[in-house]
Amino acid sequence: MSNPNKIILQESEIPYKWYNIQADLPNPTLPPLHPGTKQPIGPEDLAPIFPMELIKQEVSMEKWIEIPDEVRDIYKIWRPTPLYRAYNLEKLLDTPAKIYYKYEGVSPSGSHKTNTAVAQAYYNKKEGVKRIATETGAGQWGSALSFSCNHFGIELEVFMVKVSYHQKPYRKTLMNVWNAKVIPSPSDLTDSGRKILAQDPNSPGSLGIAISEAIERAAGDPDTKYALGSVLNHVSLHQTIIGEEAILQMEKSGDYPDVVIGCFGGGSNFSGLAFPFLRHKIVDKKNIRFIASEPASCPKLTKGELKYDFGDTIGLTPLIPMYTLGHSFVPAAIHAGGLRYHGAGALVSQLLKDKLVEAEALPQLECFEAGVTFARAEGILPAPESTHAIASVIRQANLAKTEGKSKTILFNLSGHGYLDLGAYEDYFAGKLENYHISDEELKKHLKELDAFPTID
Ligand SMILES: *Cc1c(COP(=O)(O)O)cnc(C)c1O
Repeated sequence: MSNPNKIILQESEIPYKWYNIQADLPNPTLPPLHPGTKQPIGPEDLAPIFPMELIKQEVSMEKWIEIPDEVRDIYKIWRPTPLYRAYNLEKLLDTPAKIYYKYEGVSPSGSHKTNTAVAQAYYNKKEGVKRIATETGAGQWGSALSFSCNHFGIELEVFMVKVSYHQKPYRKTLMNVWNAKVIPSPSDLTDSGRKILAQDPNSPGSLGIAISEAIERAAGDPDTKYALGSVLNHVSLHQTIIGEEAILQMEKSGDYPDVVIGCFGGGSNFSGLAFPFLRHKIVDKKNIRFIASEPASCPKLTKGELKYDFGDTIGLTPLIPMYTLGHSFVPAAIHAGGLRYHGAGALVSQLLKDKLVEAEALPQLECFEAGVTFARAEGILPAPESTHAIASVIRQANLAKTEGKSKTILFNLSGHGYLDLGAYEDYFAGKLENYHISDEELKKHLKELDAFPTID
């Protein structure tokens, strides 16, 4: 084979700017609303919980936002990340498709989340913040932010979804290594947690509940701010470094993607890879498909509705226009903890409404099978979240084979699975199930949103 297995950039080729897709959207996103007045919120409404620079980025219409030198310097620990051609997977699948993947598992905490964690910790530090409270699902975000806060000397309190706290004990240890305090959620430290425990003492927790707990901590203490690892515009913005590097790498490969795929929790790794290529689609009219791969047990994009909803379970956040399953929806305890979120970020929601991106829902067992197939072919063990992207890739590669057509597939391998071996153990032991949400259950949760302003 004459073509390289992996395409590596120099440190000097790390992009200097993040790409803000808000500048290029054919239709802008609707504004977040104050839950009381139902009026658009202003920066001052968010100031108690976020540093001002991040609030500015959240609403910015500037196309390019400069990456601070301090952030770019830390990025150099693991960036640029490699882009691989998955020759061995192509061979195993006997497909005419070319498969490329961008590997974000090389970051210190093992996923793409470090790209935004470093940036968020930096802006908090710059504005004198002493402490941050946050939530984490599987622990990927918690460990990314622990690494980043430790670097900048910020204290960190992490509310970790209880089911993951027990499924992934080593993630907690990793957070402790980087000096963070980890609390299983729901906890009795907050009103939000106590309220959930009163209703269900055995609650497995959810990202929505843990977010409520962390926001409550930040809102109740002037020295503490809050940080979110997905969903928000500024998080997707920071992640575009993935796609900007991938554009340079695809150029070097001599290929160009026909399909771009990412797994989908709240949307940050999908956006990170997809938004820069979406610029090519929106501005340069390139013909590319974008597929967001979500779990069948938490199918907000394929079965949810575009509604105003809370970002958390208790209702402490502004109302966000999002594809949602309803804020009280608690997903089944699948192992892809990072995908157990009831809603999708406003930007991806708008893009889905405008049919610029597509989504598909995948059952848990197909994803683990895809993850194991990938590991056997390519060596790297994917995070359970990332296996959803791989399952979609395999569907596309098999389709290419049936159609007898070659196409170029690019996907985001958002993280490695070496701290998720318990999940793979359960899979091999036959203990994992496919979960599907019933239409009745879904209707019940969506009914709660009838009181909020409608979106047409
Ligand atoms: C958190 C996480 C996800 C899901 O979050 P997004 O914001 O949708 O990217 C996916 N993959 C990994 C490895 C994660 O840690």
